[in-house]
Amino acid sequence: MFTAQQYVKAATLEEAWQLNQKRSTTLLAGGCWLRLTRRRVGTLVDLGGLGLDTIEETEGEFSLGAMVTLRQLETSQALNSAFGGLFKEMTRHIVGVQFRNCATLGGSIAARFGFSDLLCALLALDCEVELFKAGRMPLEQYAKLPADRDILVRIHVKKNGRRPVYQTMRNAETDLPVLAVAASEKDGQVRVVVGARPARAEVVNAPLALAADKAALEAFQAAMQSQLTFAGNMRGSEEYRRHLANVLTGRCLAALQEG
Ligand SMILES: Cc1cc2nc3c(=O)[nH]c(=O)nc-3n(C[C@H](O)[C@H](O)[C@H](O)COP(=O)(O)OP(=O)(O)OC[C@H]3O[C@@H](n4cnc5c(N)ncnc54)[C@H](O)[C@@H]3O)c2cc1C
Repeated sequence: MFTAQQYVKAATLEEAWQLNQKRSTTLLAGGCWLRLTRRRVGTLVDLGGLGLDTIEETEGEFSLGAMVTLRQLETSQALNSAFGGLFKEMTRHIVGVQFRNCATLGGSIAARFGFSDLLCALLALDCEVELFKAGRMPLEQYAKLPADRDILVRIHVKKNGRRPVYQTMRNAETDLPVLAVAASEKDGQVRVVVGARPARAEVVNAPLALAADKAALEAFQAAMQSQLTFAGNMRGSEEYRRHLANVLTGRCLAALQEG
Protein backbone atom coordinates (compact mmCIF):
# COMPACT_ATOMS: atom_id res chain seq x y z
CA MET A 1 0.00 0.00 0.00
CA PHE A 2 1.23 3.51 -0.80
CA THR A 3 1.40 6.30 1.76
CA ALA A 4 0.74 9.99 1.12
CA GLN A 5 1.73 13.02 3.14
CA GLN A 6 -1.02 15.22 1.74
CA TYR A 7 -4.36 14.63 -0.02
CA VAL A 8 -5.85 17.21 -2.38
CA LYS A 9 -9.15 16.85 -4.19
CA ALA A 10 -8.45 19.02 -7.24
CA ALA A 11 -11.04 21.72 -7.94
CA THR A 12 -9.78 22.39 -11.47
CA LEU A 13 -7.65 20.62 -14.04
CA GLU A 14 -5.19 23.53 -13.86
CA GLU A 15 -4.74 22.97 -10.12
CA ALA A 16 -4.23 19.22 -10.65
CA TRP A 17 -1.72 19.87 -13.45
CA GLN A 18 0.24 22.45 -11.45
CA LEU A 19 0.51 20.09 -8.46
CA ASN A 20 1.45 17.20 -10.73
CA GLN A 21 4.54 18.96 -12.08
CA LYS A 22 6.33 17.98 -8.87
CA ARG A 23 7.88 14.51 -9.03
CA SER A 24 6.59 13.70 -5.54
CA THR A 25 2.95 14.18 -6.66
CA THR A 26 0.78 11.30 -7.86
CA LEU A 27 -2.62 11.52 -9.53
CA LEU A 28 -5.36 9.36 -8.04
CA ALA A 29 -8.09 7.90 -10.27
CA GLY A 30 -9.76 4.68 -9.03
CA GLY A 31 -6.69 3.89 -6.93
CA CYS A 32 -7.01 0.16 -7.69
CA TRP A 33 -3.51 -0.11 -9.14
CA LEU A 34 -1.88 2.50 -6.90
CA ARG A 35 -3.16 0.57 -3.88
CA LEU A 36 -0.78 -2.27 -4.80
CA THR A 37 2.29 -0.05 -4.93
CA ARG A 38 4.54 0.96 -2.05
CA ARG A 39 5.06 4.48 -3.28
CA ARG A 40 5.78 7.22 -0.76
CA VAL A 41 3.70 9.98 -2.28
CA GLY A 42 4.14 13.64 -1.33
CA THR A 43 0.82 15.00 -2.62
CA LEU A 44 -1.95 12.71 -3.79
CA VAL A 45 -4.21 14.56 -6.22
CA ASP A 46 -7.70 13.10 -6.52
CA LEU A 47 -9.25 13.65 -9.98
CA GLY A 48 -12.69 12.59 -8.73
CA GLY A 49 -14.21 16.07 -8.45
CA LEU A 50 -13.61 17.30 -11.99
CA GLY A 51 -16.72 15.96 -13.72
CA LEU A 52 -14.71 13.57 -15.90
CA ASP A 53 -17.02 10.61 -15.29
CA THR A 54 -19.34 11.07 -18.29
CA ILE A 55 -19.86 9.25 -21.58
CA GLU A 56 -21.02 11.82 -24.14
CA GLU A 57 -22.22 11.12 -27.67
CA THR A 58 -22.39 13.48 -30.63
CA GLU A 59 -23.12 12.73 -34.27
CA GLY A 60 -19.47 12.00 -35.06
CA GLU A 61 -17.93 10.61 -31.87
CA PHE A 62 -18.14 9.39 -28.32
CA SER A 63 -16.25 11.41 -25.73
CA LEU A 64 -15.26 9.33 -22.71
CA GLY A 65 -14.09 11.10 -19.55
CA ALA A 66 -10.92 9.82 -17.90
CA MET A 67 -12.82 9.01 -14.69
CA VAL A 68 -15.41 6.83 -16.46
CA THR A 69 -15.24 3.44 -14.74
CA LEU A 70 -14.68 0.13 -16.50
CA ARG A 71 -18.20 -0.83 -15.40
CA GLN A 72 -19.69 2.23 -17.11
CA LEU A 73 -17.94 1.16 -20.34
CA GLU A 74 -19.09 -2.43 -19.92
CA THR A 75 -22.74 -1.52 -19.39
CA SER A 76 -23.11 1.44 -21.78
CA GLN A 77 -25.78 0.48 -24.31
CA ALA A 78 -24.84 3.33 -26.60
CA LEU A 79 -21.17 2.31 -26.79
CA ASN A 80 -21.83 -1.39 -27.07
CA SER A 81 -24.43 -1.05 -29.78
CA ALA A 82 -22.21 1.33 -31.78
CA PHE A 83 -19.16 -0.98 -31.58
CA GLY A 84 -20.60 -4.51 -31.60
CA GLY A 85 -20.19 -5.16 -27.86
CA LEU A 86 -16.46 -4.29 -27.85
CA PHE A 87 -16.64 -2.28 -24.62
CA LYS A 88 -18.25 -5.15 -22.76
CA GLU A 89 -15.81 -7.66 -24.21
CA MET A 90 -12.70 -5.67 -23.28
CA THR A 91 -13.76 -5.12 -19.66
CA ARG A 92 -15.81 -8.13 -18.58
CA HIS A 93 -12.82 -10.32 -17.59
CA ILE A 94 -11.16 -7.68 -15.42
CA VAL A 95 -11.24 -8.93 -11.80
CA GLY A 96 -14.92 -8.51 -10.80
CA VAL A 97 -17.85 -6.09 -10.85
CA GLN A 98 -16.89 -4.25 -7.64
CA PHE A 99 -13.39 -3.69 -9.02
CA ARG A 100 -14.75 -2.50 -12.35
CA ASN A 101 -16.98 -0.03 -10.49
CA CYS A 102 -13.80 1.60 -9.21
CA ALA A 103 -11.01 1.25 -11.81
CA THR A 104 -11.10 3.94 -14.49
CA LEU A 105 -10.51 4.39 -18.20
CA GLY A 106 -7.96 7.18 -17.55
CA GLY A 107 -5.96 5.13 -15.04
CA SER A 108 -5.88 2.24 -17.51
CA ILE A 109 -4.77 4.22 -20.57
CA ALA A 110 -2.41 6.69 -18.86
CA ALA A 111 -0.56 3.84 -17.14
CA ARG A 112 -0.07 2.14 -20.56
CA PHE A 113 0.20 -1.30 -18.98
CA GLY A 114 1.67 -4.00 -21.22
CA PHE A 115 -1.23 -6.29 -20.26
CA SER A 116 -3.98 -3.71 -20.82
CA ASP A 117 -7.16 -5.03 -22.43
CA LEU A 118 -8.43 -1.47 -22.85
CA LEU A 119 -5.35 -0.17 -24.65
CA CYS A 120 -5.34 -3.13 -27.04
CA ALA A 121 -9.06 -2.94 -27.84
CA LEU A 122 -9.21 0.85 -28.21
CA LEU A 123 -6.27 0.83 -30.64
CA ALA A 124 -8.53 -1.09 -33.02
CA LEU A 125 -10.88 1.92 -33.14
CA ASP A 126 -10.05 5.42 -34.33
CA CYS A 127 -9.38 7.17 -31.03
CA GLU A 128 -7.69 10.33 -29.91
CA VAL A 129 -6.58 11.10 -26.37
CA GLU A 130 -7.12 14.61 -25.01
CA LEU A 131 -4.37 15.72 -22.64
CA PHE A 132 -4.73 18.84 -20.51
CA LYS A 133 -1.59 20.57 -21.82
CA ALA A 134 -0.53 18.63 -24.93
CA GLY A 135 -4.06 18.65 -26.43
CA ARG A 136 -5.36 15.93 -28.75
CA MET A 137 -3.25 13.22 -30.38
CA PRO A 138 -3.95 9.77 -31.84
CA LEU A 139 -4.07 7.02 -29.21
CA GLU A 140 -1.50 5.09 -31.26
CA GLN A 141 0.98 7.95 -30.82
CA TYR A 142 0.22 8.34 -27.10
CA ALA A 143 0.61 4.61 -26.51
CA LYS A 144 4.23 4.77 -27.68
CA LEU A 145 5.25 7.71 -25.48
CA PRO A 146 7.00 7.27 -22.14
CA ALA A 147 5.15 8.20 -18.93
CA ASP A 148 4.73 11.96 -18.53
CA ARG A 149 3.25 14.47 -16.07
CA ASP A 150 0.32 15.64 -18.21
CA ILE A 151 -3.27 14.70 -17.35
CA LEU A 152 -5.39 12.49 -19.58
CA VAL A 153 -8.74 14.28 -19.69
CA ARG A 154 -10.90 12.43 -22.23
CA ILE A 155 -10.74 9.83 -25.01
CA HIS A 156 -12.56 10.58 -28.24
CA VAL A 157 -13.78 7.58 -30.23
CA LYS A 158 -14.80 8.22 -33.86
CA LYS A 159 -18.13 6.83 -35.05
CA ASN A 160 -16.97 6.04 -38.57
CA GLY A 161 -18.38 2.60 -39.26
CA ARG A 162 -15.28 0.68 -38.14
CA ARG A 163 -16.33 -2.81 -36.95
CA PRO A 164 -14.19 -4.23 -34.13
CA VAL A 165 -13.77 -7.67 -32.54
CA TYR A 166 -11.69 -8.66 -29.53
CA GLN A 167 -10.22 -11.98 -28.42
CA THR A 168 -8.04 -12.90 -25.44
CA MET A 169 -6.50 -16.02 -24.01
CA ARG A 170 -6.49 -16.20 -20.21
CA ASN A 171 -5.28 -19.03 -17.98
CA ALA A 172 -8.18 -18.28 -15.62
CA GLU A 173 -11.32 -16.22 -16.21
CA THR A 174 -10.28 -13.09 -14.30
CA ASP A 175 -6.49 -13.31 -14.64
CA LEU A 176 -4.46 -10.92 -16.79
CA PRO A 177 -4.49 -11.95 -20.46
CA VAL A 178 -1.70 -14.22 -21.73
CA LEU A 179 -2.28 -12.61 -25.11
CA ALA A 180 -4.86 -10.23 -26.57
CA VAL A 181 -5.78 -9.49 -30.18
CA ALA A 182 -8.18 -6.79 -31.36
CA ALA A 183 -9.10 -6.38 -35.01
CA SER A 184 -11.36 -4.02 -36.89
CA GLU A 185 -12.61 -3.67 -40.43
CA LYS A 186 -13.35 -0.55 -42.45
CA ASP A 187 -13.72 -0.32 -46.25
CA GLY A 188 -12.62 -3.94 -46.65
CA GLN A 189 -9.27 -3.47 -44.84
CA VAL A 190 -8.51 -5.02 -41.46
CA ARG A 191 -6.41 -3.48 -38.68
CA VAL A 192 -4.89 -5.91 -36.17
CA VAL A 193 -3.59 -4.97 -32.70
CA VAL A 194 -1.69 -7.39 -30.50
CA GLY A 195 -1.33 -6.81 -26.75
CA ALA A 196 -0.12 -8.58 -23.61
CA ARG A 197 2.90 -9.97 -25.51
CA PRO A 198 3.53 -8.99 -22.60
CA ALA A 199 4.62 -5.61 -24.02
CA ARG A 200 2.34 -2.63 -24.73
CA ALA A 201 -0.28 -3.24 -27.40
CA GLU A 202 0.84 -2.37 -30.95
CA VAL A 203 -0.86 -2.09 -34.30
CA VAL A 204 0.56 -4.52 -36.88
CA ASN A 205 1.92 -2.54 -39.80
CA ALA A 206 0.98 -4.89 -42.67
CA PRO A 207 -2.04 -5.01 -45.00
CA LEU A 208 -4.82 -7.54 -44.43
CA ALA A 209 -7.95 -7.54 -46.57
CA LEU A 210 -11.30 -8.62 -45.12
CA ALA A 211 -11.58 -11.08 -48.00
CA ALA A 212 -8.14 -12.61 -47.25
CA ASP A 213 -7.86 -16.35 -47.93
CA LYS A 214 -5.65 -18.81 -46.01
CA ALA A 215 -2.48 -17.88 -47.93
CA ALA A 216 -3.03 -14.14 -47.44
CA LEU A 217 -3.68 -14.65 -43.73
CA GLU A 218 -0.47 -16.69 -43.41
CA ALA A 219 1.52 -13.96 -45.17
CA PHE A 220 0.06 -11.41 -42.74
CA GLN A 221 0.88 -13.64 -39.75
CA ALA A 222 4.49 -14.00 -40.93
CA ALA A 223 4.80 -10.19 -41.17
CA MET A 224 3.27 -9.83 -37.70
CA GLN A 225 5.67 -12.37 -36.20
CA SER A 226 8.72 -10.61 -37.60
CA GLN A 227 7.51 -7.14 -36.67
CA LEU A 228 6.39 -7.58 -33.05
CA THR A 229 8.40 -8.60 -30.00
CA PHE A 230 7.05 -11.41 -27.82
CA ALA A 231 8.43 -12.62 -24.51
CA GLY A 232 7.83 -15.23 -21.86
CA ASN A 233 6.76 -14.74 -18.25
CA MET A 234 4.90 -16.71 -15.55
CA ARG A 235 1.73 -16.79 -17.70
CA GLY A 236 3.21 -18.22 -20.87
CA SER A 237 6.37 -18.68 -22.93
CA GLU A 238 7.38 -16.58 -25.92
CA GLU A 239 6.70 -19.52 -28.22
CA TYR A 240 3.19 -20.01 -26.79
CA ARG A 241 2.41 -16.31 -27.19
CA ARG A 242 3.59 -16.37 -30.83
CA HIS A 243 1.31 -19.36 -31.45
CA LEU A 244 -1.62 -17.61 -29.72
CA ALA A 245 -1.09 -14.47 -31.80
CA ASN A 246 -1.61 -16.50 -35.00
CA VAL A 247 -4.61 -18.37 -33.61
CA LEU A 248 -6.39 -15.28 -32.23
CA THR A 249 -5.70 -13.27 -35.39
CA GLY A 250 -7.28 -16.06 -37.44
CA ARG A 251 -10.32 -16.10 -35.13
CA CYS A 252 -10.70 -12.33 -35.29
CA LEU A 253 -10.57 -12.38 -39.10
CA ALA A 254 -13.13 -15.20 -39.22
CA ALA A 255 -15.43 -13.27 -36.86
CA LEU A 256 -15.18 -10.16 -39.04
CA GLN A 257 -15.82 -12.20 -42.20
CA GLU A 258 -18.91 -13.76 -40.62
CA GLY A 259 -20.13 -10.24 -39.80
C1 LIG B 1 -5.44 -7.05 -9.42
C2 LIG B 1 -5.58 -6.29 -10.72
C3 LIG B 1 -5.91 -7.00 -11.85
C4 LIG B 1 -6.04 -6.31 -13.08
N1 LIG B 1 -6.38 -7.00 -14.21
C5 LIG B 1 -6.48 -6.34 -15.39
C6 LIG B 1 -6.80 -7.03 -16.60
O1 LIG B 1 -6.99 -8.25 -16.64
N2 LIG B 1 -6.88 -6.30 -17.75
C7 LIG B 1 -6.67 -4.94 -17.76
O2 LIG B 1 -6.76 -4.35 -18.83
N3 LIG B 1 -6.38 -4.26 -16.64
C8 LIG B 1 -6.27 -4.93 -15.46
N4 LIG B 1 -5.94 -4.23 -14.33
C9 LIG B 1 -5.71 -2.77 -14.42
C10 LIG B 1 -7.01 -2.01 -14.10
O3 LIG B 1 -8.00 -2.33 -15.04
C11 LIG B 1 -6.79 -0.49 -14.12
O4 LIG B 1 -6.19 -0.16 -15.32
C12 LIG B 1 -5.90 -0.02 -13.02
O5 LIG B 1 -6.47 -0.35 -11.79
C13 LIG B 1 -5.66 1.51 -13.11
O6 LIG B 1 -6.88 2.20 -13.04
P1 LIG B 1 -7.22 3.06 -11.74
O7 LIG B 1 -8.41 3.90 -12.07
O8 LIG B 1 -7.31 2.16 -10.57
O9 LIG B 1 -5.94 3.99 -11.66
P2 LIG B 1 -5.02 4.41 -10.42
O10 LIG B 1 -4.54 3.22 -9.68
O11 LIG B 1 -5.69 5.48 -9.63
O12 LIG B 1 -3.82 5.09 -11.24
C14 LIG B 1 -2.94 4.31 -12.04
C15 LIG B 1 -1.81 5.22 -12.56
O13 LIG B 1 -2.32 6.10 -13.58
C16 LIG B 1 -2.14 7.47 -13.20
N5 LIG B 1 -3.37 8.17 -13.64
C17 LIG B 1 -4.62 7.87 -13.28
N6 LIG B 1 -5.51 8.66 -13.94
C18 LIG B 1 -4.77 9.47 -14.73
C19 LIG B 1 -5.10 10.51 -15.66
N7 LIG B 1 -6.37 10.85 -15.91
N8 LIG B 1 -4.08 11.13 -16.30
C20 LIG B 1 -2.79 10.77 -16.08
N9 LIG B 1 -2.41 9.81 -15.21
C21 LIG B 1 -3.39 9.16 -14.55
C22 LIG B 1 -1.96 7.44 -11.69
O14 LIG B 1 -1.22 8.55 -11.22
C23 LIG B 1 -1.23 6.14 -11.49
O15 LIG B 1 0.15 6.28 -11.76
C24 LIG B 1 -5.82 -4.89 -13.10
C25 LIG B 1 -5.48 -4.20 -11.94
C26 LIG B 1 -5.36 -4.88 -10.75
C27 LIG B 1 -5.02 -4.09 -9.50
